[in-house]
Amino acid sequence: MRNQPEYNILLVEDDPRHAALINRAFETEANCRLTITATLEQARSLIGNQSPDLIITDVRLPDGRGTELLDPVPDCPTIVMTSHKDENSAVRAMKSGAADYIVKTQETMASLPRTANRVMREWRLVIDQKLARERQQRLTAILEATPDLICIANLDGFVSYINQAGRKLLGIGEDEDIRRIRLADFHSPADGQKILGVGIPHAIAEGMWTDETTFVSLTGDRILTSQVLISHRNVHGEIEFFSTIARDIRHLRAAEERIEYLAYYDTLTGLPNRNELVKRLDIEIVRVRRNQNHSALLFIDLDNFKYINDSMGHPAGDLVLQEMAQRLQAHLRGDDTVARLGGDEFIVILADLSKEGMEAISQAREIANKIRNTIAMECRIHDTDLQVTASIGISMITRDETSGHDLLRFADTAMYQAKREGRNRLEFFSERMGSDVTRQLELENQLRRALREDQFRLFYQPLVDDTQQVIGVEALIRWQHPELGIIAPSEFLDVLETSGQIVEVGNWVIETALKQMTLWVSDSLVGDDFLICINISPRQFRDRQFAENINCLLDRINVPTRNIVMEVTEHNLIHNIDDAILRMQELISRGIRFSLDDFGTGYSSLAHLKNLPVKHIKIDRSFVKDICSDGGDLAMVASILALSGHLGLQVVAEGVEEPGQFEMLRRLGCRYFQGYYFSKPLSFEDMDAYLAGARQAI
Ligand code: C2E
Ligand code: CA
Ligand code: CA
Repeated sequence: MRNQPEYNILLVEDDPRHAALINRAFETEANCRLTITATLEQARSLIGNQSPDLIITDVRLPDGRGTELLDPVPDCPTIVMTSHKDENSAVRAMKSGAADYIVKTQETMASLPRTANRVMREWRLVIDQKLARERQQRLTAILEATPDLICIANLDGFVSYINQAGRKLLGIGEDEDIRRIRLADFHSPADGQKILGVGIPHAIAEGMWTDETTFVSLTGDRILTSQVLISHRNVHGEIEFFSTIARDIRHLRAAEERIEYLAYYDTLTGLPNRNELVKRLDIEIVRVRRNQNHSALLFIDLDNFKYINDSMGHPAGDLVLQEMAQRLQAHLRGDDTVARLGGDEFIVILADLSKEGMEAISQAREIANKIRNTIAMECRIHDTDLQVTASIGISMITRDETSGHDLLRFADTAMYQAKREGRNRLEFFSERMGSDVTRQLELENQLRRALREDQFRLFYQPLVDDTQQVIGVEALIRWQHPELGIIAPSEFLDVLETSGQIVEVGNWVIETALKQMTLWVSDSLVGDDFLICINISPRQFRDRQFAENINCLLDRINVPTRNIVMEVTEHNLIHNIDDAILRMQELISRGIRFSLDDFGTGYSSLAHLKNLPVKHIKIDRSFVKDICSDGGDLAMVASILALSGHLGLQVVAEGVEEPGQFEMLRRLGCRYFQGYYFSKPLSFEDMDAYLAGARQAI
């Protein structure tokens, strides 16, 4: 038993007999509930309230014609009933949208339930078809709007539908007849085979197959897609057609490749980066072990890159790196690798060198030298000709069990050694270097502590004139080690220089020397023309804050600047002579003088001297040593003295140990001297006493 009738039927009939008859006919229809009304007006309000499933209306009604209910056409079917003589209005009713009509007789009214059921069934069908059509239109709209290729193909592979995105992707025109097209023809030959051989069988067996495939459009574009192939079966389980969806993943793949690239390549130079290098190095190590040919790892570090970056700016520095990367690549052979480790460090793996150890080494040396020479060729950046040099450390990749990490470390160590030996050169790693590095690191730590714990001292060596009168002193650093006692600068200066600690220590030296000088002045131990000579290291001199620091010190410490002589060597000047001269001039303008130390050992010719703003030169000890026995040294010193006379330079002879040397130098016209013959370097207290003694002697 149903409580709720399935259909609400509205009967509009003013003739009570007819209404009773129809009502009776419907009494046996359990699924219908009849609502009866006699007027149009009531019918209208019931339609509004009850939304009947069927309206059955008489044409003639007291307040109008039943066909008026068809305007507007209601949401349900309407059956119109006419009397015998009124068949015309039945025709009109059908035209204006009635679903059916009956001519009222006993029989037609009694069989109205059957008619009603048929009309409602037909109406349902029409509605369902309409809905299905709408749904299909919507689905098609979705298919046409989606950006992926969607295609339906029948069993022999011919296309029966392809959406707009698919046409566009494959270059198929709007008006082209797709039924002649087979989708497999749009795949690359290999993928066409794959679809036929694997894709379709798999889709048949499993319902679906997915893979990455490449389509080739009519215009020849290769399109990488992620493709899905689906088989569709009918109710009997037979395959009826296939559909496929393919998404263009070229952008995705390009992005993936970019990410991959960034992880393994350096964007500035396009060279492999550290990650990629480590991978390749591991492969190389395995290869060396297998085929017994040696390989070599070159650690290349540009010598003056930081300076270029600082003085010309980073964009210029970048250009230099790109240029050097290209030059390095030009030296590659088959399996070689060039990588950028970062900054101005490059790595080259030279593969496939000789099986024979010594020969491999000499091959590596030869190529490394070629690389060094190419790097050193002038390069033009922003209208400036630059010369960049490189220090190269080499470690051989042999069949022993050395790891890639260690090989890199060894080559780095050797490179570091090349720097210490004067740059623009190459150095092979040796076992000894390994322990040197460890020692060096320990020393660096100890030196840091030395500065912190005030273990540095300044010794002073007198500078005398030809009457042996003390006219000044040179400050010389010592390390008062708590256990080892006094340590000479030759033991630790290099480490200070390479680690950069020299900048801080150098500042300490200048400050201490100037302060101690003020004590001698205030004690009247020295005259107001007494010179304090201070050694300035290359790194210290190149430091950007150098002049600024000195200016600050001079503001704090009251020493006349004309008493100060800064001793520099040609190493200080060699890297960028113009810049060095500018720096010197800045200090010279404050009254400080410069002296060229260790003269004769460097690169510069005597003629070079006249361009430098120096007041003094110090003839290196090595010429003084054999001046009485070696004619060459004698001639050299003589010519230095002669030329200096012309240029108005004062010459100091260093390392005078014997009276014979003193006499000879004096005879050649030298007027200033330094050396053990007069005094060894003395501590501040000893110097104090020495100066007091000298005072008294006058
Ligand atoms: P230098 O500037 O050529 O200093 C002269 C060196 O020769 C000093 O060695 C001095 O002790 C030594 N000497 C002086 N007279 C004689 C002699 O008659 N015979 C012999 N055989 N040697 C003599 P020292 O003090 O060991 O210094 C070595 C080098 O260390 C110096 O050479 C200088 O280049 C550097 N140095 C010393 N102190 C400092 C400093 O405070 N800062 C910097 N940057 N370098 C310093
Ligand atoms: Ca010196
Ligand atoms: Ca010297």
